[in-house]
Amino acid sequence: MSLTQLARTKVQELTPYQSARRIGGQGHIWLNANEAADSGQFSLNCERLNRYPECQPPQVIERYAAYAGVNPERVLVSRGGDEGIELLIRTFCEPGSDRILITSPTYGMYAISAETNGVQVVDVPLTQARQPDFDGIIARLDEVKIVFLCSPNNPTGDLVDKAGLVRLLKAAQDKALVVVDEAYIEFCPAHSQVDLLNDYNNLVIIRTLSKAFGLAGIRCGFTLASPEVIGLLLKVIAPYPVAEPVAQIAAQALSEEGLLLMRQRVEEINRLKTELTEQLQKHAQVKEVFAPNGNYLLVRFTPGSEIFARMSRAGIILRDFATRPGLADCIRITIGSRAEMDAVLDVLHKEQ
Ligand SMILES: *Cc1c(COP(=O)(O)O)cnc(C)c1O
Repeated sequence: MSLTQLARTKVQELTPYQSARRIGGQGHIWLNANEAADSGQFSLNCERLNRYPECQPPQVIERYAAYAGVNPERVLVSRGGDEGIELLIRTFCEPGSDRILITSPTYGMYAISAETNGVQVVDVPLTQARQPDFDGIIARLDEVKIVFLCSPNNPTGDLVDKAGLVRLLKAAQDKALVVVDEAYIEFCPAHSQVDLLNDYNNLVIIRTLSKAFGLAGIRCGFTLASPEVIGLLLKVIAPYPVAEPVAQIAAQALSEEGLLLMRQRVEEINRLKTELTEQLQKHAQVKEVFAPNGNYLLVRFTPGSEIFARMSRAGIILRDFATRPGLADCIRITIGSRAEMDAVLDVLHKEQ
């Protein structure tokens, strides 16, 4: 008998998540994982590394709460936003019987986390206007424990409509959690749904330091929710999810100076994004540039495969979404440094 047969049947059936990092590729310009082009400088105090860290480092919680404009009781810090997503599933969904709802095309980790935990996935695809199909979702609320929305949506960039979200929150009261994943909200902060937390105890917001804060490497994310939901997640979370060096760096990133640097990075990325959008819209092989609300642009080329291969030959690694329903010929380009954006435009313009 092979050890594979010892593993849970569900696990035997899984294929590992095809993250940007795992797919990889040959190249020197990495624009496939929505990472920032720089991280900034941080200092470490190594005097207390002999001690286990705090489960929820107070300074990190307090600073994130102040930054997000919520009470610290509403904040949970975890190993990236991804751990927040998984904790929600493990806390609220009974393996084998409960389900989550996703709105494809969207971020892959909701379905991956569900499947690795034996939880089924109901898909209510986005509408033609790329909004959640709120009527379609409301019709299926009795079947699901958690609804995952993403705003700005990865990869399409669209924002969730507030009136629709409020309608869903009301319909889902006492039935299901509604998660709004705001991993990219720093690039369009006026569109956060955080103000709804006070009125709806079934609303959960996911945040991260991986994107606008430029800290994907430290694995630090946040879940914002009612104190009741946070209390439940704290029953399930590991005792030491946030390593001491991570807590120190996160606290510095959330200091006044850190926030200033983050906002400057966002301004630069948004400027480069606008410039790239203008250039792309003039290009003969560009059919559509999707909503520019994150640190990336989803672009429909004619044909996508040819552009992807051309970029790849030039050492530029992008993320191909062509196989996803509705996203034929679509490629996602992370907004990197000015030099990296110039390299992209060079390839586009040279070999037309
Ligand atoms: C990047 C991302 C996250 C979380 O990433 P972490 O690195 O785990 O914090 C969550 N949701 C979306 C949509 C993302 O793109």
